[in-house]
Amino acid sequence: MTDQRIFKATPTANMPSYEAARESFSWQDAQDRLDGLPDGHLNIAHEAIDRHVVAGHGEQTALRWIAKSGARIDMSYQDLQHLTNKFANVLRSHGLQQGDKVYALLGRVPELYIAALGSLKAGCVFCPLFSAFGPEPIAARMTIGGANALITSTRLYKRKVAAIRDSLEALETVFTIDGAVPDTVDLAPLMKDAATTFETAQTGPEDTALLHFTSGTTGKPKGVVHVHQAVVAHDTTGRLALDLRPGDVYWCTADPGWVTGTSYGIIAPLTNRTTMIVDEAEFDVARWYDILQSEKVNVWYTAPTAIRMLMKAGADAIGDRVFPQLRFMASVGEPLNPEAVIWGNETFGKPFHDNWWQTETGGIMIANYATMDVKPGSMGKPLPGITAGIVDVKGDTVTELTAPMAMGELALRPGWPSMMRGYLHEPARYDKCFKGGWYLTGDLAMRDADGYFWFVGRADDLIKSSGHLIGPFEVESALMEHDAVAEVAVIGLPDETAGQIVKAYVALKPGHDPTEDLRLDLMGHARKRLGPAVAPKDIAFRQNLPKTRSGKIMRRLLKAREMGLPEGDISTLESDEK
Ligand code: ATP
Ligand code: MG
Repeated sequence: MTDQRIFKATPTANMPSYEAARESFSWQDAQDRLDGLPDGHLNIAHEAIDRHVVAGHGEQTALRWIAKSGARIDMSYQDLQHLTNKFANVLRSHGLQQGDKVYALLGRVPELYIAALGSLKAGCVFCPLFSAFGPEPIAARMTIGGANALITSTRLYKRKVAAIRDSLEALETVFTIDGAVPDTVDLAPLMKDAATTFETAQTGPEDTALLHFTSGTTGKPKGVVHVHQAVVAHDTTGRLALDLRPGDVYWCTADPGWVTGTSYGIIAPLTNRTTMIVDEAEFDVARWYDILQSEKVNVWYTAPTAIRMLMKAGADAIGDRVFPQLRFMASVGEPLNPEAVIWGNETFGKPFHDNWWQTETGGIMIANYATMDVKPGSMGKPLPGITAGIVDVKGDTVTELTAPMAMGELALRPGWPSMMRGYLHEPARYDKCFKGGWYLTGDLAMRDADGYFWFVGRADDLIKSSGHLIGPFEVESALMEHDAVAEVAVIGLPDETAGQIVKAYVALKPGHDPTEDLRLDLMGHARKRLGPAVAPKDIAFRQNLPKTRSGKIMRRLLKAREMGLPEGDISTLESDEK
């Protein structure tokens, strides 16, 4: 579904022209922008912190932390260097060596960021978990990854870890950041006494650096392995896709428990020498607008679910706040409805720039760049250095579909630095992702005549109704245009005659009641926009839609509930209403 409205490009120094950047790009050049360590070694934390201190930027604020209370703590690159060195020393003094796995179960507090980068410095493998996970998802993820150490709080330890501790065979040490309880080690005094110098571990580019679990949108979350080499892609995409410039104030709203909050909430902002904002609190409309204004945010990276919540609150919520410093706004995680892009432009004077990637790809692969016109509803074009295609997979044969707007599986030519190196303990699943020289993403998309990519849906979510192939995103975006609609999820339900029928679940904006009249009005709107074959046959109102902790609508859960089937793995489920 294309939209007629186009937002004009603003060429930037980071990428004066998309075509020229594509032409001249090489991953080797991208790597050469970084320091590296002697003898071909490479360490993410060195590139994120120490490199800038050596270059004389130690005084610049690296991280501005905003506590729930509103209190602020600034940490310079120099501070971060010292604190991460201390943490690395603490790890060593507790026997943790290169390759050992350090997990974090923390909210967005400074210790989380220090632990992430300090672990990498020590050559340990870092794995962040959402602090809201219950004991079972925590135990499962720590077991799969073989956690050797955990950093958490006494409250989280008592509530979630103490009872499962005995089952975690590899787990030697639990550091707690706010005192100690039985079987944990009080981190603060150790940090106080630790030396501020540490020789960064000589990690190889192919050494494992990070473990991330996928969002669990389509099924049981998969453990994904990333290596230090990934920093080349983080740095490059931060510069090219997010237009990060040294000295920018940058706010990524994602939690590090989701890959976005690590790749773009820790690594890319620091390698690009920005000042990154970390807000401890959860989403809150007024608070977010306050932060954008008072911190003078230049670049803002968020997700469709948050944007839709801001849209739901209406323009009044902004009051008299202004955002003259806001230069670039980007979104990831789910398809961004054209309405949201347009709303961004009406509200902030600039559109949201959608980009696409996965836990598996480690970094942004397809994006709307500042330097390129935005077509609302399109996720943009492949990053320089990335070849993307639309393919048809039949058995072992993969055929690239080159006709404009042909629908097929989105595929990428492997070989970029942040590509996963494996799924934990699932080699067969990993091997299945590669066919005919392509990495198959599991998403369906189309490419238009100008080379823009359009998301259709996940392969699992495609609806086949009376001979039509219907992508949920198209139907959802049409319903989103209606004034009353805050959020929509569309699924296919089995039907004897049509094969499947389209059903939509709609959450309404405040001030709209779930009446039969409104339901009919929505059906009418959808029919007019999409035609009777594609429009939903049924619309149900919901106050909330089930979502993952990374803010993705779990269509599989709506479907399972509708059909009375088992709910499957719901370890990442956040808001919900049965
Ligand atoms: P799981 O793999 O466990 O089911 P997940 O795929 O949601 O969960 P992530 O790796 O966090 O886990 O998300 C990647 C997926 O999110 C993509 O494959 C795609 O389906 C969706 N996605 C990400 N960005 C976009 C975007 N800009 N437009 C459309 N979909 C997107
Ligand atoms: Mg996935």
